[in-house]
Amino acid sequence: MNLRGMKDILPSEQRYWDFIFNRVQQFARDYGFQRIETPILEAASLFTRSVGTETDIISKEMYAFVDQGGEKVALRPEGTAGVTRSYIEHGMLNQPQPVKLFYYGPMFRHDRPQAGRQRQFWQYGFEIIGEQNAVMDAQLITMSYKFYAELGLAIQIEINSVGCQQCRPGYLKVLTGYLKNIKKDLCEACQVRLLKNPLRVLDCSEKGCQDLMVGAPQILDHLCNECKDHFVLVLEYLDELEVKYNLNAKIVRGLDYYTKTAWEIFELGRDGQQEALGGGGRYDSLVQQLGGRATPAVGFACGIERAIARFKTNDIAVSPVYAPQLYIAQLGLEARKKCLRLYETLLRKGYTVAESFSKSSLKDQLELANKLGVKYSLIIGQKEMVDGTVLIRDMESGNQEVVDFNKIQDYMAKLLSAEVRNGRVDD
Ligand code: AMP
Repeated sequence: MNLRGMKDILPSEQRYWDFIFNRVQQFARDYGFQRIETPILEAASLFTRSVGTETDIISKEMYAFVDQGGEKVALRPEGTAGVTRSYIEHGMLNQPQPVKLFYYGPMFRHDRPQAGRQRQFWQYGFEIIGEQNAVMDAQLITMSYKFYAELGLAIQIEINSVGCQQCRPGYLKVLTGYLKNIKKDLCEACQVRLLKNPLRVLDCSEKGCQDLMVGAPQILDHLCNECKDHFVLVLEYLDELEVKYNLNAKIVRGLDYYTKTAWEIFELGRDGQQEALGGGGRYDSLVQQLGGRATPAVGFACGIERAIARFKTNDIAVSPVYAPQLYIAQLGLEARKKCLRLYETLLRKGYTVAESFSKSSLKDQLELANKLGVKYSLIIGQKEMVDGTVLIRDMESGNQEVVDFNKIQDYMAKLLSAEVRNGRVDD
């Protein structure tokens, strides 16, 4: 048995993963992002310093341990901290700014496993480091919207501003005052949050707390002018690009490093507890917090398993299953040798070919060819060896034709290009 909350990604699922990875790469090309991969294992302090010790991700969910060298390390719970560390470590601030990076890989959180929540899950993420202009926020929000909306999902962006180091402390004071008055009515977890991370009371999933939060002071009323102007501009750009969004005071994101814009991506109209497909925000103080020069940044990350679940329930067509065009069947040792060579030749010519050279029975081999859905099988048995021919079997009609072995490549080229013309080959 594998560990709880850890899942195998089986061959039958891979077309969804390929589809998402290809789409991520396409978006990266379209918007000018370069790929970065950082180690899965980092110093635990990287995450405590950036995400914050009072967040669930760090205080409860981080896989942290002391390694053989006595160093406290952790499996990354998210991608932004590692990318920011790398930006600083490799002097990327000396490159033309902003630096636009994307990543794709597994993250780890020791959460309670349930539908849409695993302990190892995959994320793709896009980060823009080195630019404070609100147009960057809008571009990333648009990307996160388009990624799903263009496929036909009804996507809603829930957006908020969480202010900055100038205006947030003032708001936290007002919020804490409000929460203290209703402390006894809050759930147990929120009574702790009130002391350690009061913003998180706003996005508590308990119905009782949610009802109490309706009357809570809203951060948008407490933003400094700079944060207010920034937020208004982001919304103006989104209106220009016709991205649907909803102002939502509950979007505070779990992590300490967020400043100004924060957003989450939801599919509209799903019953029950809504799970975000992704989320993002601006993190203008993180680079400095991790020892770099003060550098503004903004980014978002999306969960791949959750995206796949939505694609399935919405019947989104993804890449077709790999289907070889040809199958090579052989009978007898000499024929097998000849077929081994033919196989290599056909691969070199760019055909997709299947085989089962370890099998001896022609019946078994043709059964497999049928299962794979190939158009043609190329068969060489003892008679074909003697005659220097190949038997070509149309797997749909069952018709067979004898072709001179030396002419096989020309013959296949003609046959398959006719297939393409007749629209029978779907690539
Ligand atoms: P977060 O940074 O926590 O908002 O995560 C961004 C996205 O990653 C979420 O919107 C989910 O799609 C995905 N995600 C986060 N945690 C998990 C989890 N435990 N299991 C599966 N997906 C997750």
